[in-house]
Amino acid sequence: MPAQVYNSIEEEIKALKRKRGAVILAHNYQVGEIQDIADFTGDSLGLAQEAQKMNAPVIVFSGVLFMAETVSILCPDKTVLVPDLEAGCSLAAMIRPEDVRKWKAEHPKGIVVAYVNTTAEVKAEADYCCTSSNAVKVVSAIPEDREILFVPDFYLGSFVQMKTGRKNITIWKGYCHVHVMIKSERLAQLKKEHSQAELLMHPECGCLTKSMEFADQILSTEGMVKYVRQSKAPEFIVATETGILHKMQKENPGKNFIPATNQAVCNYMKQNTLEKIVLSLERMQYEIKVPEPIRKQALVPIQRMLEISQ
Ligand code: SF4
Repeated sequence: MPAQVYNSIEEEIKALKRKRGAVILAHNYQVGEIQDIADFTGDSLGLAQEAQKMNAPVIVFSGVLFMAETVSILCPDKTVLVPDLEAGCSLAAMIRPEDVRKWKAEHPKGIVVAYVNTTAEVKAEADYCCTSSNAVKVVSAIPEDREILFVPDFYLGSFVQMKTGRKNITIWKGYCHVHVMIKSERLAQLKKEHSQAELLMHPECGCLTKSMEFADQILSTEGMVKYVRQSKAPEFIVATETGILHKMQKENPGKNFIPATNQAVCNYMKQNTLEKIVLSLERMQYEIKVPEPIRKQALVPIQRMLEISQ
């Protein structure tokens, strides 16, 4: 039989999705053309929670690997595919499960809080997970007398420490190579040049504490997307990965969005392409399946976080 001819790659993806009974979930940092063909876009936890609600047996996850693992943890009965196995994360790679085990052995009564940007193996060693939007709430829920290890993001951890006033917290010195590129001096200059603009900052930004006095909002990616919908400001300076500007601009055509720097591009996120999504659906590759013992352990801190942040 001659091969089916499609007018566009988007049309081909739609046909393959129908054939596989698949949905596509895309992170807010994906390139615009992937966000446009996705069934749902959002931040890592939002996508995993959306996956739980969907009836589709196959999920193509266009984001990075730790996020696909979270989907696998929450949806063990679904087939979770990623278009490219090179889509890692420099921040998640900065903490290993053995690092956490070592701290726990030295602090038997200590509590480990792991940001969702960690591997399934690290989550399995943690007591609580958190996102950038609920980290303060999660840490505040832990009894004052318990020592805490916060992993892996130093800047989010420092922000949480400042907000909670917590002294007995050890913060891992990990960072995201994209968010450390954003500089306070540049943000100050942009604020001066755009007097009507609101500055939105992600707590992973390396210059967060230095820029807090003139930042208008400190928000997670999805928090930013929601905020700009309801804000009356005509312009926004956006201090996070530049992929998010696509969604903001699409949803708010009358508003102007300025990236903190055009350099803030995550090379891991950008491994995914429409062509690789076609191959993923055609060949049912590459499956991400968290082994059951790790999945069960990693589910506990995620569920604790969800209970606290309800
Ligand atoms: S932007 Fe940073 S934290 Fe997000 S996936 Fe890329 S390297 Fe990881």
